[in-house]
Amino acid sequence: MSKKNINNTCNKKVRRRTILKSAAVGLTSLALPFGNADAGVWESFFQKHFHQMNKDELKTVITRLESEYKEEYGKDFNIKSTKPIDGVKFGYGLDLSRCIGCRRCVYGCVEENNQSRDPQIHWISVLEFKKGERWVNVFEEATKYYNPNPPCVKVCPTKATWQERDGITVVDYNWCIGCRYCMAACPYGARRFNWAAPQVAREEINTETHYLGNRPRYNGVVEKCTFCIQRTREEPGRYPACVEVCPVGARKFGNLLDPESEIRYSIEHKRVFRLKEDLNTSPKFYYFFAT
Ligand code: SF4
Ligand code: SF4
Repeated sequence: MSKKNINNTCNKKVRRRTILKSAAVGLTSLALPFGNADAGVWESFFQKHFHQMNKDELKTVITRLESEYKEEYGKDFNIKSTKPIDGVKFGYGLDLSRCIGCRRCVYGCVEENNQSRDPQIHWISVLEFKKGERWVNVFEEATKYYNPNPPCVKVCPTKATWQERDGITVVDYNWCIGCRYCMAACPYGARRFNWAAPQVAREEINTETHYLGNRPRYNGVVEKCTFCIQRTREEPGRYPACVEVCPVGARKFGNLLDPESEIRYSIEHKRVFRLKEDLNTSPKFYYFFAT
């Protein structure tokens, strides 16, 4: 199968966004998208919000998605729905004095999280800067921020995005209608919109996924970093892919509620700052210098 042909099955499915658009112009048009649709389309449209589904309903949805992805990529997928771990609130640190700008974190993130290769979507941006330039212009780590009531969550008209107990802000791609209000509201430019069907080759797709994380996305929905929810909610916890691949240990990750964690040590012993603190969004992404 050519690269251009991959991902077609999922993206040919009638999306919630398409149906809602049709609904806006009348019931006659609403019938149109379903002309050749299979049962999966109906099931997808009428599936409940993630929080409203009971265990059995969630299992049914996940089984349907695994079968759709198998049809699309010819591989068996494992879609987890692991819940937050009690007593865990994630925090992330980046040591600016260590980073050498190699961008391995960018590529590690793309591979782990099934980001589109064509058009390219990167959740991490690494920008070079010269000594003396203002830091806000020069190093953008626009993928992670966490707070009790993020602006992106507040504006979502369909409640397709929310913050979990462990601080991870997630998107349910089956509920997102692609209005992009959340992108406009996010002060950190942390969200990416799929203007086209995401393209990930069959041989490159990561089949170990989470429903709220790196499972394949659709054309017309928003996505963002989830601290590799499919890894970090495992017990014992795994690091996000970007932390694991960094060759100089510039990235730190862990439980902010654990006084023995590396992230707590970094925050308590380094010169730390957070982006746009004046907005009172209380991000859990910390930049620091070693001394
Ligand atoms: S684009 Fe953003 S605001 Fe709009 S439905 Fe999707 S998650 Fe919600
Ligand atoms: S992998 Fe580490 S050193 Fe390389 S750009 Fe990313 S943070 Fe910097």
